Formats: sequence, structure tokens, C-alpha cells
Amino acid sequence: MSESIVPPEVRPKPAVPAKPPHVAAPSPTAPHGPSGLGGGVGVDRVPGLGHSGGGSTLLGYIGIDTIIEQMRKKTMKAGFDFNIMIVGHSGLGKSTLVNTLFKSQVSRWSSGWGSEHKIPKTVEIKAVSHVIEEGGVKMKLTVIDTPGFGDQINNENCWDPISKYINEQYEKFLKEEVNIARKKRIPDTRVHCCLYFISPTGHSLRQLDIEFMKHLSRVVNIIPVIAKSDTMTLDEKNEFKHRVRKELETHGIEYYPQNEFDDDMEDKNENDKIRETMPFAVVGSDKEFQVNGKRVLGRKTAWGVVEVENPNHCEFALLRDFLIRSHLQDLKEVTHNIHYETYRARRLNDNGGLHPISLNLQPKEFWD
Ligand code: GDP
Ligand code: MG
Repeated sequence: MSESIVPPEVRPKPAVPAKPPHVAAPSPTAPHGPSGLGGGVGVDRVPGLGHSGGGSTLLGYIGIDTIIEQMRKKTMKAGFDFNIMIVGHSGLGKSTLVNTLFKSQVSRWSSGWGSEHKIPKTVEIKAVSHVIEEGGVKMKLTVIDTPGFGDQINNENCWDPISKYINEQYEKFLKEEVNIARKKRIPDTRVHCCLYFISPTGHSLRQLDIEFMKHLSRVVNIIPVIAKSDTMTLDEKNEFKHRVRKELETHGIEYYPQNEFDDDMEDKNENDKIRETMPFAVVGSDKEFQVNGKRVLGRKTAWGVVEVENPNHCEFALLRDFLIRSHLQDLKEVTHNIHYETYRARRLNDNGGLHPISLNLQPKEFWD
């Protein structure tokens, strides 16, 4: 037995590479040896980390970059939720555009529905979910349609049901979060993005547009778009876009991507370019045509085909790239870190800051 005990002087060295010669000596207050492991906070004393500020160099591969692959695998397995709301008065091409964006009939209020289908005249909220899979990644897409928005003669407070819906989703998430036995993965029904359709009048925003965006821009990511832009000439379109931007600024309406949430200069430069182009003037279509030997989504007119994905014809491709290819994750993060967080803080404050919200509920409801 005694031979298994190694005397301290011959104990093998821990499997930690030697300290590189240029790494600063440990400070006299540091309680541990030169390896820096086991207590010291100086990052530059941990060999192999290559901390740029400390001037260390990599001595060997650790593998920290594999986190990206690990995250990719997890995301592939779990999939993700993306919830998009469409608002604007009926007939502006909302359903068509969402179908164009996701290249399928994801919106059941599409123009493809029978003409006998009546559009409800009050703001009803319809959420329809689909699972879309591409390259092995599953997205549960929920389209929240608000047929009837702004269709009344008196549209006073017609954003109330929409605002209520958005807050209800935050509340649902919060209740799940404060549950003692909470789910490993809380189903996310929060609205990540609200596409607001502006009528292509060529004049200015309507009072209702301004009121809606003013009320809702603090609780949800609003992306204004100019609908049916094929009905305007190029000059009219550019002038209208300019005027809408000015009006939004005058009324202090912060749409997505909000200036104040730019992470760094790179983010700011990229987002500035996008903000200068907004609101995107789009055209939607779920019909394909043959153009120069290729099948393209478009709208056939007496003068030719308006190609939806052709950047010379409209800004649909810009919107698609922005919404899905570059900012989808950010939309989710801003929803979670800013809008939901604001709701959560207010709700917990109102609640005394201490008591879980679920205590307000009946026990049965709490455990349901
Ligand atoms: P919603 O009521 O806002 O959902 O509008 P729909 O998507 O049902 O479209 C209403 C009508 O407008 C349909 O006849 C569509 O074919 C047409 N439409 C949709 N998008 C466009 C567009 O970008 N330009 C033009 N000119 N018409 C469109
Ligand atoms: Mg519709």
C-alpha cells in the first residue's frame, strides 16, 4: 500500500503546459503557482488562451472554436420558433407577401382562397403554424394575421386587440419561466416581428399608421413595408419612401432595427445602410412565370412580368435577406432581451417584485 503514495518531491507535474517566457510573472497577491489554474483571475496567465490584451500566444489547440459546431448540432436537433405578425388593412397583399417570403401557402388568408371567403370586419387574430425544414434545420413558423385591421369607419384604438395579443404571449412565457417545475424549453409564442403594411398612396402615412406604430413600437419589433409597390413609378416610390422615413422620424417612431440597440460600430454601419433603405417597397406573388428560360415568382402585367425577386423591380429580396438571412436571430434576441424584458420587469414590479405571478392563479390553473 505504502508504495502507491508518491512522495511530494517526485509527484508528476500536472498536465498543464509550461508558462511561456513572455507571460507576466504572477502578482505577489496571487495565491497560486505560475500555471494560473485554480484561482487566479488573470486571463493572460492561462496558457493557450491567446488573450489578445495580455499578449499571450496559442501554444496548442484547445478546441474552443468547436462551440460553434456544438451549437449548430443543438439547433439542428431542437429547431427554433419564429413568429411573424402581419398588420395592415385588407387587400394590401399581406397574405400574398408572407406566402412569397416562405415560398409556400403559409398564410391561410391568401388570395388563393375562394372569392366567397369573407374577410372579417373586426380585428380578429389568427395564428397559423407550419414547420418548414431547410438544410436539416427545422423552423416552426407562426404567422399571426390580423384581418380586418383598419377596415372600420371608426378605427379608434383598433390596435388594442393586437397589443393585447402581444402582451398575452409575454405573459404566457413569463408564467412558464416562474413555474417551479419549469420546462426545459419554453414554447415561444412571442411575436418576434411585426410587418406593418403601408398603403402605396404616394402621399403620406395615414393617422392610423402613425398611431399604430407609435403604440406598438415599444412592445414589438416593427418593420414597416410599402405594399404593392408595383403600383407606383420609380420616382413616386423613392419620394414616398423618403417622406415616410421623415414622418416616422418626426413622430419619434423607432422601428426595427432600432438605433439604440446596435451592438457595436460594425452593427451600426450595417444597420444604418438598412435604415436608409427602409421602408422596403415590396411586391408579392405566389405565381410563377417563365422569364428568360427561368421560373420566377412574379406578377404578369400587360407590359411584362414584375419579378418579385429581381432587385431592379422591387425590394422584396432586400426584405427577405434582412428578415431571414441576416437578422432573424437578432429579431429573436431583441424580442427576448428588450421587449420581453421590459414587460417582465414591469410585471414583476407591479406584482411587488417578490411573488411569482402564478400565485395570483388558482392552484388548479397553476399546475395545469
Ligand atoms: P391581404 O388582405 O392584405 O392579405 O391581401 P391579399 O394577399 O389577399 O391580396 C389582395 C389582392 O392583392 C389579391 O388580388 C392579390 O393578388 C393582390 N396583390 C397581392 N400582392 C400584390 C402586389 O404586390 N402588387 C399588386 N399589384 N397586387 C398584389
Ligand atoms: Mg390576408
